[in-house]
Amino acid sequence: MKFYWLRDVPTPRYSGSYNAANKWGLPGVHCPLCDAIWSYGSDTYPSVDLSQLPEKEKYSARLEKDYAEFERLREQVRPLLPAGVPLWPGTKFGPLVGTAQGEFGPLLMYYPWDLLMRREALEQLQAAGVQGLKGCGTELRFRQKNPPELLEMEMLPRGQLHPDCLPADRLAPCTQCGRRGWSLPDEPMLDAASLPQDVDLFRVGDFLTVIVGSERFVEAARRLGFEQDILFRELPLG
Ligand SMILES: [Zn+2]
Repeated sequence: MKFYWLRDVPTPRYSGSYNAANKWGLPGVHCPLCDAIWSYGSDTYPSVDLSQLPEKEKYSARLEKDYAEFERLREQVRPLLPAGVPLWPGTKFGPLVGTAQGEFGPLLMYYPWDLLMRREALEQLQAAGVQGLKGCGTELRFRQKNPPELLEMEMLPRGQLHPDCLPADRLAPCTQCGRRGWSLPDEPMLDAASLPQDVDLFRVGDFLTVIVGSERFVEAARRLGFEQDILFRELPLG
């Protein structure tokens, strides 16, 4: 099976845009060991509801200077998430809340690390046999009449990049906060043995900004005419 990196386009055909953020998130941290101040804001679990949590106001876009407190907040939400989710600083939860305007195509990457779909597009992909798609309701307010129903896709981390495409001299991740000092290579290669066969849309486990669709996903999207304002770049496998 082939795998494709889903990318935004430089000049979109549709005018649609939104200004929104997920309702909650883990704060950023200052790591006492490596001294980095960081958060990783691309990983999003819109189905995770923190509204019953007594300390939900602490789950916001802010910096938590006390690392032990960050870990406590993280462990408090871990039972609400699927097993194996890394829960980096800055991980987002809950629906997108904000405003939206303009016309939207079937699939939308207004930000390159996030994928939204119109409900009818998601249903057509599911009917075509694409597996593991999870669309979550958004709280986007439109001024126009008859706005589209936009769903934010929840994509779990699966697989990893092949070590051959990463810098050979990379340092080990920080043993306390897990931060890695290397960035996404220009020519990413996927580690074939690590890739899922049962899920057709996911984030790469060690580079969560990279959203990958399987051949089944891309073929269905192309057949349905959804390759608008989105690029499918085949990734080499190693
Ligand atoms: Zn660290």
